[in-house]
Amino acid sequence: MCLFCDIADHNKKALIVDETKNTITFLDINPANEGHVLIIPKRHVDTILDLPDEYVLEIIGVSRKIIRAYETVYNAKGYGVMQNGGENCEFGHFHFHVFPRLSNDGFDWIYPKGEKEVSEQVAQKLRAKLNG
Ligand SMILES: [Zn+2]
Repeated sequence: MCLFCDIADHNKKALIVDETKNTITFLDINPANEGHVLIIPKRHVDTILDLPDEYVLEIIGVSRKIIRAYETVYNAKGYGVMQNGGENCEFGHFHFHVFPRLSNDGFDWIYPKGEKEVSEQVAQKLRAKLNG
């Protein structure tokens, strides 16, 4: 049993803000901004690839509901969403970050250093797999 499964089962306390049939949403204890939540499925998977479509749609629906709330609660003009999967999934249980963005809040993506190719060859490599 993982920490997030315990939260989903109400066996571990969390500051829950929303619950649906297949999801539970609670405050991130290390927020990027006030109101930062984690939406988790009530099913232990570590990658979106293992999540049934019904869960994915429900998570996106909850995200939109939260983002709408940010507009009035924080007067937020924007938002951020993040998700890491597989070996980059902390806790080993899929979770979707949603947080309000405030003007000049200082949040930034940190990219790995080094050159990265952006070219027709890169696009073609992916296109070939997606359409092949
Ligand atoms: Zn779990």
